[in-house]
Amino acid sequence: MTDIGGIISEIAAEMATVEDRGTVASYIPPLAAIDPGHFGIAVIEADGACHVAGDADMAFSIQSVSKVFALTLALGKAGDALWKRVGREPSGSAFNSIVQLETESGVPRNPFINAGAIVVADMILSGHAPREAIGEILRFVRAVAEDDTIGIDEAVARGEQATGFRNIALANYMRAFGNLHHPVDHALGVYFHQCAIAMSCRQLAQAGRYLMMQGRVPGGGRIVSAARARRINALMMMCGHYDGSGEFAFRVGLPGKSGVGGGILAIAPGRASIAVWSPGLNERGNSKIGAVALERLVHRTGWSVFDPAAD
Ligand code: GLU
Repeated sequence: MTDIGGIISEIAAEMATVEDRGTVASYIPPLAAIDPGHFGIAVIEADGACHVAGDADMAFSIQSVSKVFALTLALGKAGDALWKRVGREPSGSAFNSIVQLETESGVPRNPFINAGAIVVADMILSGHAPREAIGEILRFVRAVAEDDTIGIDEAVARGEQATGFRNIALANYMRAFGNLHHPVDHALGVYFHQCAIAMSCRQLAQAGRYLMMQGRVPGGGRIVSAARARRINALMMMCGHYDGSGEFAFRVGLPGKSGVGGGILAIAPGRASIAVWSPGLNERGNSKIGAVALERLVHRTGWSVFDPAAD
C-alpha cells in the first residue's frame, strides 16, 4: 500500500527549501500581508483516510476555488439551462480578461473565468436578496466540508469590492448584453463574498470529496449526480487554471481549480480529494509551489487520470 502520509510529509519538507516561491497577490492588503513561506497540503482518500502536512490547518482565502462550489450550486438550481449563459471551453486568456466577451456577445467562455463566475453568482441570486445568496453558498460549503466553523473574511470581501474595477467592468459589459439579470452590484456582492471564504487545506479537501466520489459524500449522501461530478471535473481539468490550464494538465494530470490566495483543489477521481496551499503565484496567477507539490504527489502515487489504475 502506498504510504500517502509519508509521501506528503516528504513533499512538505521539500517545499520548505524552495527559494523561488512566486509572488503573493498584492491587490488587497489582507492578501499582500501573507508570508510566502507557508505551505500546506491535505489528502483525503476514498476510504476516508485523511493525511495532512505543513500548514494544513491554517485558513487562507480560497478566492477562485469557490467557483467550483458556486457552479455546483447554480447547476442544482438552473440545471443544464446554465449552459445557455456560460460556455464550456477553455479561454486561453487571463482570469479577468474582457476581450472574448465582445465577439461572443457577453457569454463567458467557461464558469471558472471571472466573467463566467459572475454569471453563475447572478444565477444563484435568482429569487434571493444578495445576503441570502451569500448565505446559501456558505451553507453549501460548510455542508460538503462537514464543518460549520468555515466563514467569510470580511476584510477580504471589502478589499475585493474596493479594488474590483475589472470585475465591475465585466459585469456591466455582460449586463449590456442581457446576460446578467440582477443589478451589477448584487451579482458582484455575491461574487466578492464567495471569493472571501476562508478555509484550510483540510477543510478544502473535505469539501472536494463529492467530486472524488462520483457526486456522493461519505455516508452515502448525494450532492450531485455522477454525471454532473464527472462534468465538473472535466471543466476543472480544461479551465481550472485560466491560461495555465494546459500546463497544469500536462504536469499534474488532475482536475484542479486554483485561487489567487494560493490554494488549489485537485481531484483524483475515485482515489483522493487534495488541497494544497502556497501563497506565492506564478505569472498566470496560480500557486507556484502548489503545482510543484501536486506534480510530485501524482508522480509518486500514479494518480494522474492519464495513468492506468494501479490495482
Ligand atoms: N477575487 C479575485 C478576482 O476576482 C479572484 C481571482 C482568482 O482567484 O484567480 O480578481
